[in-house]
Amino acid sequence: MASLAATVYLSLGTNLGDRLANLRLALARLQTLACLGDVSSLYETDPQGVSDQPLFLNAVCRVTTGLEPQALLRFLKNLERESGRQPGGQRWGPRLIDLDILLYNDRVVDAPELTIPHPRLAERAFVLVPLCELVPELRHPLLGKTMKALLASVGKKGVRRIAPRTWEKGERNEGIAGAEA
Ligand code: AMP
Repeated sequence: MASLAATVYLSLGTNLGDRLANLRLALARLQTLACLGDVSSLYETDPQGVSDQPLFLNAVCRVTTGLEPQALLRFLKNLERESGRQPGGQRWGPRLIDLDILLYNDRVVDAPELTIPHPRLAERAFVLVPLCELVPELRHPLLGKTMKALLASVGKKGVRRIAPRTWEKGERNEGIAGAEA
């Protein structure tokens, strides 16, 4: 039986190489197995954990997909590998592309390799700021709070909007402050 499409929110991050190109490539590849919906504005963000590393670009997108959560995770990890990211790199360290499943409908998954909602969603301004652009009133399935309320507790420090939602459509970087020329 074909599974119904799920509404999924993904976070994208990168702080190595041509960061904008990394994000655009990831979005293009995502569309081979998922239907891309809204994409947030583009944000430049301070690194967390390991501070001695380049600034990140971050965004959030909505996709619909028939993939079950575990299959979606495998697809995303493959996509990261194809983008040149070495598995087993430093935790919180520099990365070409990082793709995380934030929310999958209102499903709760607690498996060794996959936790949904993403376990650090509620504490990360670089996730909550772009997510609130798309779904401020959506409730966290476990905490019961809206994304807007979670962001209000975390604050927006270290997260700077550098391009409007159309960033993913362009091929050039003009007008995107902080992006590679
Ligand atoms: P990362 O540091 O983001 O590359 O994540 C490392 C590992 O986190 C991945 O290999 C996944 O197995 C695991 N993981 C657990 N929950 C999630 C999630 N919701 N989205 C993405 N990865 C996850």
